[in-house]
Order: sequence, then structure tokens, then C-alpha cells
Amino acid sequence: MNAMGKRTYISVILPLKLGWEPCYWTDIEDIAIGQRVTVQFAGKSYTGTVSATGIEPSISPSKIMEISDRDDSLSKISRQEIEFWRRLAEYYMCTIGEVYSIACPVAKINSEKAKARKEELLKAKIGKTISALERKEAMLKSRIGRKAAELEKCRSEEKKERLSAEIDKLKEETATIKAERLRYLSSEIPAGISLPWEMSDIADIHIDLSPKQKEAMKQIEAAFGEGKTVLLNGVAGSGKTEIYISLAAKTLQNGKNVLYLVPEKAMSRQLSERLEGYFGNALLTFHSGKTAAQRAEIAETIRSCGESGKRYLVLGTRSSLFLPHHNLGLVIVDEEHDSSYKQDSPAPRYNARDAAIMLGTVHSAQSSDADDIRSRCNVILGSATPSLESIYNCLSGKFAEARLSNRYYGDGRTDVEIIDTIAERKKNGMTGSFSKKLVKHISDALGCGQQVMLLRTRRGYSAALQCTGCGYIPKCPKCNVSLTYHKDNGRLECHHCGFSSASTGKCPECGEEMKTLGSGTQKIEEEAATLFPQARIARLDSDTARSARYEAETIKSFSRKEIDILVGTQIVTKGFDFGNLALTAVMQADTMLGIQDFRADEKAMQTLVQFKGRCGRRGERSLFVIQTAQPEHPVYKMLSGEGQAEYISRLLAERAEFNYPPFTRIVDIILKDRIEERAERMAKALAGGLLDFRTTGPYTPAAGRRDDEYSIVIRVTLSKDRQLALLKKMLVKRIEEFESANRYNGHICFDADPI
Ligand code: ADP
Ligand code: ZN
Repeated sequence: MNAMGKRTYISVILPLKLGWEPCYWTDIEDIAIGQRVTVQFAGKSYTGTVSATGIEPSISPSKIMEISDRDDSLSKISRQEIEFWRRLAEYYMCTIGEVYSIACPVAKINSEKAKARKEELLKAKIGKTISALERKEAMLKSRIGRKAAELEKCRSEEKKERLSAEIDKLKEETATIKAERLRYLSSEIPAGISLPWEMSDIADIHIDLSPKQKEAMKQIEAAFGEGKTVLLNGVAGSGKTEIYISLAAKTLQNGKNVLYLVPEKAMSRQLSERLEGYFGNALLTFHSGKTAAQRAEIAETIRSCGESGKRYLVLGTRSSLFLPHHNLGLVIVDEEHDSSYKQDSPAPRYNARDAAIMLGTVHSAQSSDADDIRSRCNVILGSATPSLESIYNCLSGKFAEARLSNRYYGDGRTDVEIIDTIAERKKNGMTGSFSKKLVKHISDALGCGQQVMLLRTRRGYSAALQCTGCGYIPKCPKCNVSLTYHKDNGRLECHHCGFSSASTGKCPECGEEMKTLGSGTQKIEEEAATLFPQARIARLDSDTARSARYEAETIKSFSRKEIDILVGTQIVTKGFDFGNLALTAVMQADTMLGIQDFRADEKAMQTLVQFKGRCGRRGERSLFVIQTAQPEHPVYKMLSGEGQAEYISRLLAERAEFNYPPFTRIVDIILKDRIEERAERMAKALAGGLLDFRTTGPYTPAAGRRDDEYSIVIRVTLSKDRQLALLKKMLVKRIEEFESANRYNGHICFDADPI
């Protein structure tokens, strides 16, 4: 201990699942919140972030350790970043340490450290060069002085001339050296980091909006003026992106920064080309496809923007929420309904849409004048198929809604044709998964040199059963979700409440045979290859798209018309803009409705509308075919304009009746254990202790076993009012107590607002 130094007690956020922030002491006088420190915790060394200084230690000071080091090479974390982490941890019921772990992963810290070392070396080298140049300059100057003295004394004209020439030459050399030295002196930022655009470049951005877009823009800005989040509800191709670009440009011109979120990195690739034309190198693209070093560099560029007063626009996936944002004026959440925004694992299991709103609040609160629209951080969510949550928020007045109901290039006619696969099968009108009607449509389109897309969704792990006679899918009488067929015991089970009934293999409605739903994309691709041997066929699903390059190449090839038929899952519905698409078809659309999930109908609607939105992008005529065993299902009726609003009210009414979100909030308590029996026992005991909460389960989720771990879920439904935060805290406390009473640590986590 340093006897002279005055001890300051600080609390530190560590990258651990800790419910508290440990206390340390230091005698560094200017220790500040946000600085990075190395400390020992339970015998290990960690890089943490100072979260408070000058605190009163709550334990005996003799037990408090000194920090090992202050990491000045690591960037300081801002108060807003810490505040954002805190809010996320509270809402998603995890620890701030877990948020810190994903915001500042070890790989990022390491690459930051490596970079700092490199910069230091570079700085040292620059320093050496500068002093060498200084010495040379001084030497030259003294030589000039000597020659000048000699010249003064000199009598011979000839010698005078020679000396003058020599002096001139030396002066020239000195000037060159001086210029070189100044150049080194001014280059404070080492080469390699390119700083975003100057304000003057951004001022040039101008977009000609259509009258309808202008109208929407007015509404949006008025709502921002009231401090409201805006939902831009606009059909595909209506020009939502153009509106985002206009808003982003205005924000940058006002001297603030922009975050533009997209659900998938494939989308950021397509968009970044479009945005680059407007924003040049102010545009920073950020997603999981980048290396740790690249990501650290982007974070540094953003920080250096703060110091130099330059502006940036980040286009990225959900992890870009954790960049060191500052002076943020706008957050755009494109395709806000997309479930890819939800982080599955590890904690925090956040939804980037909701986290974006929290980030907006954090960046608004610090503004000195909250009434000035320019001092706030506005949030805009956009989609052609908004989530029921966001629609509900508009209805309740929490959000403002702006609509774009027409395509920019005019509404090309898209005819919808529903093909009843059961009726066709009876008439011998099916060949495998394809109806003969669809085969004819495909041949016609290919014959005209046009392109075709075939959608086959296959989600969920175990299949539902469906009647081959009437298309009936058994649902849980209590939860209104489809039952899952378990092959091993021949039972139909509800993954919500545990309801179970034996399957006779026959339909309870009509007595026909029940069959599992489904051939996947791979089989469809195979069948298509047999039916259309001349066609160039490609497949895009989460298997093939695992290679980002394959995905990008396939999309590029399709837009260059090098592929005739593209078979794919939802991936192909996500925001892509293809011009030559004449026919899109959904194969076995029923699977979308056969998922053990109360959101199934909502998701089916979104997928269908998105998929339909891929056709007729340039105002041309196109055909949208749906093959289904349930042609009467209401979800298909909503595909014509007005029907959608009606269908949404119907879904909302159902959600209200069964107490589902958005009328309530759901929190899943997840137990993970390598020992199945223990997991079950613990889950039962835990559920028994939560009788004062509204719970369902324990039940095994669809993906119940993963990486040798069994998961069991207890679902808690919470009312959505002022009590929510309090109830969540109670629940966290209850679990902590359960864990310590049963010595069952590290097995239980939460998923707030599961998808
Ligand atoms: P969305 O994001 O709603 O799907 P986009 O912004 O991609 O729609 O617009 C669809 C097409 O219309 C794009 O090709 C876009 O360039 C064009 N477009 C939309 N608005 C404008 C505009 N104001 N000026 C020029 N082109 C526009
Ligand atoms: Zn049930």
C-alpha cells in the first residue's frame, strides 16, 4: 500500500454474471467513471469498467483489494453506455456484467490493446524521426550561419558567388527538412483510420420525395417533435428506405449521428451500396461478419468522431447498439417485426427493436433542452408488416404511425391464386409437392424468360399433424396453439401448458388419416430439378446461407438473371429487390400455421405479405400462388388490401382473449442442466414456489435438448402496467433465493419477451 496516496474506493463492472459491482481501492487521483481497470476477482484477472468513484465501502476496508492497473490504452466508456447497459440488464433480467461481456467482448479488448501497442510503437517511431529531423535542421542552420560569416569576410568575388550558391542550397535543404518535420508533427492520428465525411459533404445530400413521401415525412417530424417513437407502416417498395435516407441526412446536417439497424447482415450488404452513394465514408458498416480487429477499429473511429466533431452513420445488425455511440440523433429500425432482432443466447436476450428505444431514451435524457427536437434522439421503426406489439403501441397512442400505402413505381398488379392441394390430390392434380396448375404457371414464366421464386418455410423442430382429408390441425383447447406430435410416444402435446392427448392417427373432425407436415426446401429443389430439367435452380436457406459468400453470390446471380428458379426459406423474403420476378409460390403454406407458438398466425401473415411484396417491384404484372390444404384459413383472405387490417384486429382480439402479448408480458424462466432428472425436479420445485405468479409449465421447449443440455421452461405471464419492473425484480430475487436455498447456481436464466 502506498502510504502517501489517498485511497479512493471505486466499484467496477466485471464481465461476469455477478449481481453486484465489486469494490476496489486505488490511489490514482484522477480515477473516473468509465475508465478501464485490471482487477483480481476470485483469483483471476479481469478488465473491468469503473462504474462509481468515491463510494463508501460496505465491507471492512481491510478486505478490499487495490486495483492491479489502470488500462489507459483502452478507451473510456461513456456514462451513456453504462446507463444503456443498466437499463438493458434491468429489463432483460440479467446482470450488468453479462451486458458488459457482450458489449466489450474479450476479443475486442485484446484487439484494442494490440492496436494501442501498435499505435504506441508508431508514435515512438514518429517521435524518433522528428528528433532526428530536428537535429539535422539545427545542423544545417549552424552550417548556414558559418557560411554566412565566411561570406561577410570574403573579398574574392568568385568565392562570394560560390558561397552564396552554397547558402541558397543549404536553405533549400533546411526548408525541405522543416516541412518534413512539420508533416510528422501534425500527423497525430496514425495512418489506417479514415475519418468520416466533413459536414460540407453531407449538406449536399438532397432527395426528391414524392408528395406522399413528403406527407409521411411531415407526420414523422411532427411526431418526433412530440418526443414519440414513429412506426413507418409502408408497403414494400413504397420508399421507406428513401425516407430513412432523408431523415439520416437531416440528422447529420443537424450535427448528430445516426444508427441504422437491419435484422441480417445480408441486408446490410445490399443497403450499404445504396447508402454509400449518399454518405460516402461517413457510412460505417458493422456486423458479425467483421473480424474483431475490424470491429474494434470501427468503435475507435466512432470515438474519434466525438473528439474531432465529425459525423457518422452506422449501418449494422443488432450488435451495433453496443458501439460507443455519442451525440446520437436518430435510430432507424428497419423491418422492425423481424425475429432476427431477438438475441437468443447468451444474455442479455434482448430484442434490438426495444433496445433501440431504450438507447434513444438514454441519448435524449442527457440533452440540455429536451424540448428541442434537435437535442433528442429520435427512433423510427419501419416495416411493411409491423409486429402486433408495434401496432398496439400505435393504437394506444404510445407510438405515432405514418403510412405509405402505394409503391413508388406504381402498384403492379399481383394476382393471388390459392391452390387447394387436397382437392388437387383427389383430382390427380398433384405431382409430388407441386400441383399441375403451378407447374403450368412456372413453365409459362420460364418460357417468357422470367424468374420464379418458391418459398418453403420449415421452422420448429418437431412437426405438427395435419388431416389429409380436411386439413385440420389439432390445437390445444387451453392455449390455442397447435399441438406437437411426439413420434416416440404417439402423443400430441402442448408445449405451453403440458396438455397432452393420445393420437389415434385419425382426424377427430372427419375421420381421415393424419399425417406429419412436410418436405423441406431440399426436397422441393430436387423435385423442381426433375420437373424443369432446363432451368437453372438454386437454393437459399439457413443451411446454404451459413456461408455468407454463397448467400451474397446467390442473390447477386439471381438479380443478374443467372438463376431461373430460386427455392428458399424466409431468407428470400427479406427486403430483397429483384426486377424480373414474374411468379412467386408458397409450397405447403400450412406448416406456417402448424407451429406451437401463439405468434404463428402473426408470423404467417408477415411472411406471406413480405413474400407477395417481392413481386411486381417495377410496376409489372405478376402472380402469387399459395399451395395449401386449408384454403379457407382466414390468413389467406387478408392478402387483398383491406383484408389485412381486418385480420390484424382479429389477431389482436385473440391475443386479448387468451391473455397474450401485447396485452401482457411474458418472461420465460429457463433451466438448463446436463442431468435431465435434476432439471425436471428443480423445475417442479421452482414452479411450486411461484404459485403467486401466473405460470404455465414446466414444459420442454421445441428445441429442448441442445449441446448436451436439457432445457425446461416455466412461462410467467405478467400484467403490463407500472408494476412490471417491480414484478420482474421480485422474480429475479425469488430465483436468487431458490438458487441459494438449493445450491443450484448457474442453471437458471430469464428470457423476457421471448419470440
Ligand atoms: P421500401 O424501402 O419501402 O421497400 P424503397 O425505398 O426501396 O422502398 O423504394 C422502392 C424503389 O423506389 C427503389 O428502387 C427506390 O429507389 C425507388 N424510390 C422510392 N422513393 C423514391 C424517390 N423519392 N425518388 C426516386 N426513387 C425512389
Ligand atoms: Zn395448452
